[in-house]
Amino acid sequence: MTEELQILWSLRDLDDRLVTLETALRRYPGERKLLEQRSSGEKARLEAHKQRLHDLQLRHRQSEKDIEALQAEERKFQGQLPLVKKNEEYQALLKEIGDRKAKRSDRETDLLGLMDDEQRLQTERPTLEHALKTAETETAARLLVIAEGERREREQVEALEAQRQQLVVRLGPFIRSRYERIRVSKEGRAVVPIIKGSCGGCFRGQPPQALQEARRRDRVLNCDGCGRLLIWPPDVE
Ligand SMILES: [Zn+2]
Repeated sequence: MTEELQILWSLRDLDDRLVTLETALRRYPGERKLLEQRSSGEKARLEAHKQRLHDLQLRHRQSEKDIEALQAEERKFQGQLPLVKKNEEYQALLKEIGDRKAKRSDRETDLLGLMDDEQRLQTERPTLEHALKTAETETAARLLVIAEGERREREQVEALEAQRQQLVVRLGPFIRSRYERIRVSKEGRAVVPIIKGSCGGCFRGQPPQALQEARRRDRVLNCDGCGRLLIWPPDVE
């Protein structure tokens, strides 16, 4: 095997490992997003819960004010009772008093319901707070693990890239630019082995003449199908 083919063959191995690593690195943004979604989901649940409680408390206070106002009106009508002379006026006042009493009773029933709801929300609150805290703690721990994994993988990429550069500079300018160009257009894989008479990249069968040449391992061939550089593997007869 010529030195050029040996270099290309070594580049093939480095490039395979680089492609695998780059693919692995692409999973991190998605993983981070999922983790952050879990935390923000718990946060939104707690915020909605707080808002519901706040609304209930507003209605609670309004209800109390309404009850006080109804009581005041009732007392005012009660005060007028001894002053009226005519029976119709007296009856009319009694009717007003009865009306305020009925309304007040309804409001008091509402108020009890509101207080029950408030009580229930207050009881649920610690569970939601705990869930948020757990999600945040777990997310933070998981993000650290992810950052560490990513850092290690990026270091490996850098090391492989450095090795690749050392090999690439040893190639002649013509083959080197061909290799780099194909590498860019074929998602990082420019050199492929011939496997069972076919291109290891696009699986197109190679003509017998090309196979014979490739087997001599004295020059690099191009696949007519995908344009990749073809090499008869060193460990195959
Ligand atoms: Zn091909």
